[in-house]
Amino acid sequence: TYTIEQVKALIREYPDFPSEGILFRDIFPIFQQPEAVVCLTDHFVERIKGLGKRIDVVVGLDARGFLFGPLIAIKLGVAFVPVRKRGKLPGEVVDVTYMKEYGEDIFQMQAEGIKAGQNVVIVDDLLATGGSCKAAEELVAKLKGTVVLNAFVISLEGLEGHKKLSAPVYSLIEC
Ligand code: 5GP
Repeated sequence: TYTIEQVKALIREYPDFPSEGILFRDIFPIFQQPEAVVCLTDHFVERIKGLGKRIDVVVGLDARGFLFGPLIAIKLGVAFVPVRKRGKLPGEVVDVTYMKEYGEDIFQMQAEGIKAGQNVVIVDDLLATGGSCKAAEELVAKLKGTVVLNAFVISLEGLEGHKKLSAPVYSLIEC
């Protein structure tokens, strides 16, 4: 079995990826170790339960939020709903425009994914500027849900992404 410190140690750093000057944090080595995935999932589940709030939906962000989100949702016994880049989701969707490094993009969520009054946890692998997560918070708000926590494996504190967000942030690693 893995301790959470051993899980953290699996994350690898790649200088100058995907472009020069960027230090990329790769979480995929965790997924080569099934017991590390279990440890990480349980860690998030305990944190979320520790809020003492009813949770109805886990929302995962495209694309690495899809790795953790469903695992956490299953353990909590709640729904999982994806936020996706535009044009990927069928049926009625809500959308929001958000700023990326190079220009704007659109995030979407299926309108039936969240019902008014539901409590939501948003999950992703990494919080950088907070633009993606803020957009997800806005989608949840459009469907009249309430974000009770934004949970990440890593947050880059220097970028102050949490300041953009309405709900509290938990991250396993702050760097
Ligand atoms: P933000 O919108 O907060 O600026 O960027 C966060 C998004 O970019 C997340 O969806 C995250 O997956 C991705 N991202 C940015 N930098 C990294 C990185 O170094 N490692 C990983 N795994 N994802 C990153």
